[in-house]
Amino acid sequence: MDGHAKWECGTCGQQHAGVAMVFGPQAPDPWLQATQAERDAGELNSDMCVLEIKGEWHYFLRGHIEIPILDVPGEVFSWSVWVSVSEESIQQVADHWEDPARASLPPLFGWLCNELPYKQSTISTPTLVHSRDPGVVPFIQLDPSVDHPLVGEQGMGITLHRLAEINHLVEVEAP
Ligand SMILES: [Zn+2]
Repeated sequence: MDGHAKWECGTCGQQHAGVAMVFGPQAPDPWLQATQAERDAGELNSDMCVLEIKGEWHYFLRGHIEIPILDVPGEVFSWSVWVSVSEESIQQVADHWEDPARASLPPLFGWLCNELPYKQSTISTPTLVHSRDPGVVPFIQLDPSVDHPLVGEQGMGITLHRLAEINHLVEVEAP
């Protein structure tokens, strides 16, 4: 979708600006809240993060919470987010990073570690992280039993109108 084009919304009939299909913070929230010394002792790249907080090591993976767009079959909106996983889990992901068969690995448990613009906190929502083919960011499945609007949106999908609203929320909250 053209990021600059305006389009007429099928829900409200208004012209919305073009929408971005992926949003997300560059690091898990604990990294953003960490001291410079803690960051210096840790590590952050675009896919993984390691951070020692109060003497305990924490391990994070980035993945996509994909949400189907109801108006455009096959299209998804993605929250690019970080989840905390166990040391064993991150070791397994690292060991299989280049493995052509890594998509067949069993999913890993993770806690969502980013606050997203919803009225209810999204921190510590339980998830399963599904590896995909090398080069493709993992798929994050929110626990469907959790009562949260974000979980509902992943399960049910969202309209383009809602996607435009999310775009607006992210732009408003951006520093
Ligand atoms: Zn609309």
